[in-house]
Amino acid sequence: MRVLITGGAGYIGSHCNRLFADKGIETVVLDDLSDGHKAAVVAGEFVKGNYGDRVFMKQLFSQYTFDGIIHFAAFASVPDSVARPQRYYDNNVAKMLALLDEAVASGIKYFVFSSSAATFGEPQYVPIDEKHPQHPINPYGMTKLIGEEILADYEKAYGIHSCSFRYFNAAGDAPDGMIGEAHNPESHLIPLVMRAAMTGEKMKVFGDDYATKDGSCVRDYVHVEDLAEAHYLGLQYIMEHNISENFNLGSSDGFSVLDLIRTFEKILGQKIPYDIVGRRAGDPAVLVASNAKAKELLGWDPKRSDLETILNDAWHWEQHRKY
Ligand code: UDP
Repeated sequence: MRVLITGGAGYIGSHCNRLFADKGIETVVLDDLSDGHKAAVVAGEFVKGNYGDRVFMKQLFSQYTFDGIIHFAAFASVPDSVARPQRYYDNNVAKMLALLDEAVASGIKYFVFSSSAATFGEPQYVPIDEKHPQHPINPYGMTKLIGEEILADYEKAYGIHSCSFRYFNAAGDAPDGMIGEAHNPESHLIPLVMRAAMTGEKMKVFGDDYATKDGSCVRDYVHVEDLAEAHYLGLQYIMEHNISENFNLGSSDGFSVLDLIRTFEKILGQKIPYDIVGRRAGDPAVLVASNAKAKELLGWDPKRSDLETILNDAWHWEQHRKY
């Protein structure tokens, strides 16, 4: 079995690539290295290229036979999507359409899609299950919802089956320190907390006036290795049943920004310097998943997604980063 992993040099994609290879699946990573790292591709083959280039994709699909595509490549920063939506609609929607069209044309039947908790917007209830309405409040979330809708229509018309995963907050790094989170610029909370701990420079907490217990935003942090495992299970599931499914992937536990800082302070035995500043555009107050469906249908067991393990793995990575 061989799969194409777009964005396999990126954060979640690189962990998935390694896990698939460990399971004996041949992988081809396609990445333009705009935010990924060649050094993150520790298994399989690597091809540098643009998944939205139809001519290039036709060639790739004639060169290799793929049983499925795991599609990670996308822009994924909420604040950047608010400031520069054009990049998100172009990359996450227009280019995805080109990829899908070429996949359908070459007879690929299975597609695993990196969607997001950002498709839900401001929750009407928590934990958020798969039946929760999807009303994104930022362009990033909207591009991922459009991706899900395209996949539903493409299944009906063209028979390509998909599995969309709504990641809550992907976090943590490979426990052996081989690969990890490395965005440039970095906008995610955990790496920025680590950076504040290392440099002593103040980080920013965006908002303390949300309707949460301490006023800071509540998020559900899920370990990247657990996410990688879900992709393996999800692909197997849609192949076995020839259907499409959507799953929310989180730990089912919510932590506020201030909870997370306090927990890390306890682990380190050191204070993290921060300022409370205004809200960041596009942030829902609370995002917490119900992971019951993924557990039940996929047998998913998120083993590393408790906050202490995530923070310990992230701290280990930040101190020994390879890229
Ligand atoms: N956040 C923060 N300071 C930062 C970065 C993030 O207070 O320097 C907050 C952000 O406003 C959100 C939460 O941390 O409430 C998680 O943000 P992140 O960008 O990590 O992930 P997102 O939830 O946007 O996917």
